[in-house]
Amino acid sequence: MYLKLNHATKAALLLGAFAAHAHAETCRISIDSDDKMQFSDARINVAENCTQVELTLHHVGTMPAEVMGHNWVLTRTTDLQSVATEGMAAGPEQHYVPADDARVIAHTRVIGGGESDTITFSTAALKKGDDYTFFCSFPGHWAIMKGTLVFG
Ligand code: ZN
Repeated sequence: MYLKLNHATKAALLLGAFAAHAHAETCRISIDSDDKMQFSDARINVAENCTQVELTLHHVGTMPAEVMGHNWVLTRTTDLQSVATEGMAAGPEQHYVPADDARVIAHTRVIGGGESDTITFSTAALKKGDDYTFFCSFPGHWAIMKGTLVFG
């Protein structure tokens, strides 16, 4: 069936398509970490309309990065253990994150007390309803320092 649209309808449809697909929405998230090896949040919700996330990790403690360093690493939950193990092997120069690893969706650098780091990443790699885990890959921390990220 051929549907003839008038100009006003066509314009409205174009605007609708633009709003749904082309509009960039940066969502800001802030999370704290401390000297007790804790994140301030166990769950992060990213709304479906966020095309990118600007995430800031704060270290509100006082201990240096060498002994109580924290980062924020995002992977699919099924990749958590392997990325954490390989991250430990990657060492402090690489912020305990495997280099150029497709399993790593996003990560900050390792910071110490009083420091913060901000990263921006696209949500294009996130699928609605999938299970993602954020964690600190500093050796020995990921078993405790982790939480769930939900998209959509
Ligand atoms: Zn940590």
